[in-house]
Amino acid sequence: MPTGPSILQVAIATPLRRCFDYHLGALLSSAAVMPGVRVKVSFGRSSTVGVVLERVDESRCQAGKLKAISAPLDELPLIPSSLLALLQWASDYYAHPIGEVIFSALPSLLRQGEPAERREVEHWCLTCLGASQEPDQLTRAPRQAALLRLLMDHPEGLSASTINERQDNWRPSMRKLAEKEWVVREQRPALLLPAPGGTRDEAPTLNVEQQTALASLCTGLGHFGVSLLDGVTGSGKTEVYLGLIGEVLARGEQALVLVPEIGLTPQLLDRFRRRFPEPIAVLHSGLSGRERLDAWLMARDGDAAIVIGTRSAVFTPLARPGVIILDEEHDASFKQQDGFRYSARDVAVKRAQLENIPVLLGSATPSLETLHNARLGRYSHLRLCERAGNARHPEVAVLDVRKQPMNSGLSLALVNAMRRHLDADGQVLLFLNRRGYAPTLLCHDCGWVAKCRRCDAHMTLFAGRKRLRCHHCGSERPADPACPECRGSELCPVGAGTERLEEALQGLFPGTGMVRIDRDTTRRKGAMQALLDSVHDGSARILVGTQMLAKGHHFPEVTLVGMVDVDQGLFSADFRATERMAQLITQVAGRAGRAQRPGQVLIQTHHPDHPLLQLLLREGYAAFAHAALEERRQANLPPFSHLALLRAEAVDGELPLRFLRQARELAEALHPYGVQLLGPIPAPMERRAGRVRAQLLLQANRRVDLHRLLDPWLQQLETDKLGRKVRWSVDVDPQEMF
Ligand code: ADP
Ligand code: ZN
Ligand code: ZN
Repeated sequence: MPTGPSILQVAIATPLRRCFDYHLGALLSSAAVMPGVRVKVSFGRSSTVGVVLERVDESRCQAGKLKAISAPLDELPLIPSSLLALLQWASDYYAHPIGEVIFSALPSLLRQGEPAERREVEHWCLTCLGASQEPDQLTRAPRQAALLRLLMDHPEGLSASTINERQDNWRPSMRKLAEKEWVVREQRPALLLPAPGGTRDEAPTLNVEQQTALASLCTGLGHFGVSLLDGVTGSGKTEVYLGLIGEVLARGEQALVLVPEIGLTPQLLDRFRRRFPEPIAVLHSGLSGRERLDAWLMARDGDAAIVIGTRSAVFTPLARPGVIILDEEHDASFKQQDGFRYSARDVAVKRAQLENIPVLLGSATPSLETLHNARLGRYSHLRLCERAGNARHPEVAVLDVRKQPMNSGLSLALVNAMRRHLDADGQVLLFLNRRGYAPTLLCHDCGWVAKCRRCDAHMTLFAGRKRLRCHHCGSERPADPACPECRGSELCPVGAGTERLEEALQGLFPGTGMVRIDRDTTRRKGAMQALLDSVHDGSARILVGTQMLAKGHHFPEVTLVGMVDVDQGLFSADFRATERMAQLITQVAGRAGRAQRPGQVLIQTHHPDHPLLQLLLREGYAAFAHAALEERRQANLPPFSHLALLRAEAVDGELPLRFLRQARELAEALHPYGVQLLGPIPAPMERRAGRVRAQLLLQANRRVDLHRLLDPWLQQLETDKLGRKVRWSVDVDPQEMF
């Protein structure tokens, strides 16, 4: 006898904006095939994995045409109903096909139909004998010594994949250590990180501001509410998170902590595991498929008390959710920029609402959207205005570099200040958001510049002056020895990137320890950690880096921060550019003087009188944000209006605009009340990676109006003939306007 409806609505990972009907077939009596269960189904000519969304009595398809599912893959729903509801909401909100949304939220092994089972993974730990060794004595076996040191730093043991991240080709050396019985191999559940016994940190006594914030957050436990923890860098936000998590764990609930991509540092994890004895699951992009699945399952089954991860971890199921904390909520990495373009911050808020738990957004430089919500009273606004401990606020000044002689981007005033700080035993951090040697290569004889063949962009000179690379499409070629136009040999690098800055500094400060931290120097396994170590042990005195340096790091000995060039951010086509620049300046400045020493921040600019820059420096980020929000209100830009961007690209340069013009006509035919259509126009960088790009902007004062149009409109575009010849996508609440 059938128990319950026999038609299954199944989500399948395809770009089609719909789900697919199957019937239960021979499994008609199966009560277990419920929403959230994976099923094997035939789809087109092959067989694939789907997720049951609903069981219904009737199908929209003709009964005879319905296929039966091949087999259920789970006995119990894999995806809890609250998470399924969140995914369905996200699919509607971001106007993205439900199948792709669900499948992008699942670990890859589950997408492939693997059983949802945990497996133990290989770990290595020191034996007592090993712990009593002196690694420095292994002078002839540096790799063994390095492994020994690594394990000594992690007395609780390390998983093979973590060791992989730190050291290449480590197995032969580990085998040697095992032969000496200094280390042993164990099978353990993945990713539980119980801190080593005895080294637990005591929480510091919170200051009054921290106590007030924590007390307010604790009264919010057990029901939905959004709080903004708006605290200057170093004000002790993380301590407030830790205090709140302690309360959540005491209630027997789980905490989900989301951090920006570069925020997931070993230091941060260490801080968590030294505070809590409970198991922690960590989800980041470096995990193997198996590890990710295990972490996911431990979160879902409630075995991980704390789940820490980057953007996509917002979709991790939790057995007993208690709180969601999003650190650095303004960070751009919370927004996915391709495929399913969601904002983890906004999804987190929705999720908290569905699960009826509080969500905490923390930042020293909150986004204008979040500040706006706080002002309207939708979010409670908690402030930490003082730096924790004894650290003082840095002193910030502008260096007007107009008409100043410059050396690879450095003014004399900045160089002199560096000298003073270095002489006083301080560390100096120089920030330049441009990697490579120079942003472009110019022929002094005829004016030729090195351009990318596939993009409307200059090539960046890097690797000394040897190679050219395009940051937009990744293509590379050797730097031209002579000008391809006039055969002239006077090719000059124009402007400076981090490489050139480092070179200039080596000339100016010979013999001074220096590290450069950017994507080029940190690509290799363990490289970032090694660079950071040399900063912390004091051997590096000057740090040069891109915005990788701006986040989360704690450099107590840095007393001078120099921002080499902030002018790019002051004048940009993107309306969010000034907001980002202000956030960056504030965050980078926050790296100075975090410990006992007072810090100084110097900002080089050709526009010392820029009003928003002036306001930021005189009165701080809050005053800046106030003025910037006023500008947005007057221009009717977000958060005072809502945007969606339809992008199209194709190799054939005609097609994108033609498709978008037609899309506009279709939209107009739907009489979209309250929605303004702007464009289509060519994208600000029209050609990228060999494709021509264009965009159509939708703007509405009320979100409902925008969504009322999107649904029927995208259904039409999906079946549009021209639409098949271009690559198109829709971006709701776009963060980048290109
Ligand atoms: P944020 O997250 O706001 O940048 P952190 O929580 O990392 O700030 O705190 C900055 C530093 O101050 C850390 O070294 C932290 O241990 C210390 N700290 C935080 N709160 C206190 C406190 N109440 N008493 C003493 N030190 C504190
Ligand atoms: Zn030339
Ligand atoms: Zn390119």
